[in-house]
Amino acid sequence: MLYLFYRLLSHFGPQFWWPAKTPFEVMVGAILTQNTAWSNVEKAVKHLEEAEALDPKVISSLDVFQLERLIRPSGFFRVKAARLKALVVYIMKEFKGDVETMGLKPGWELRRDLLSLHGVGEETADSILLYALGKPFFVVDAYTKRILKRCGLIRGSESYGDIQRLFMDTLPGDVELFKEYHALLVELGKGYCRARDPQCGTCPVKVEVE
Ligand code: SF4
Repeated sequence: MLYLFYRLLSHFGPQFWWPAKTPFEVMVGAILTQNTAWSNVEKAVKHLEEAEALDPKVISSLDVFQLERLIRPSGFFRVKAARLKALVVYIMKEFKGDVETMGLKPGWELRRDLLSLHGVGEETADSILLYALGKPFFVVDAYTKRILKRCGLIRGSESYGDIQRLFMDTLPGDVELFKEYHALLVELGKGYCRARDPQCGTCPVKVEVE
């Protein structure tokens, strides 16, 4: 899988993901980005920043209606407020609200904990682990699946874990590599391997669509 990474890197250049000032902001973004465009997440994060609420202790002290109002631009704000609350309850209970202490816990244990939280699926959990906490878990999303299927690298019926293992079993367990690779696949999916009308003729991967 490294050849694809280098091909994408030479075409798009480094992406320097995730765009956030703190690890906790990454966690918030990972929850708010579910089912919405990133521009909406940015508006919600800005509201939280202006309210000085980008902190687990502050979010845990807000009532749910205040939190809903702040994150409203991200869409599905009631569901997402409940998910954010569940995350901060976990961080407060297990780590006294300290994200640095959270990062000291082994990755697989954190992954198990995160997946047990309300509304946190594998993609969200791995985004938090990789981009907020620097744990080497490859993030698989809809772009990844579409690209690999169209390029003939998977059948399309594989589970999240099957696809993740394809990367994690063949690549060095390098956090920076995983961060860049996922970001580059998103760029490829947005710019060339679109759901409709893939741009194979000019795509840096240049693989025939079946
Ligand atoms: S060559 Fe076509 S199918 Fe393959 S990644 Fe590029 S756009 Fe997608």
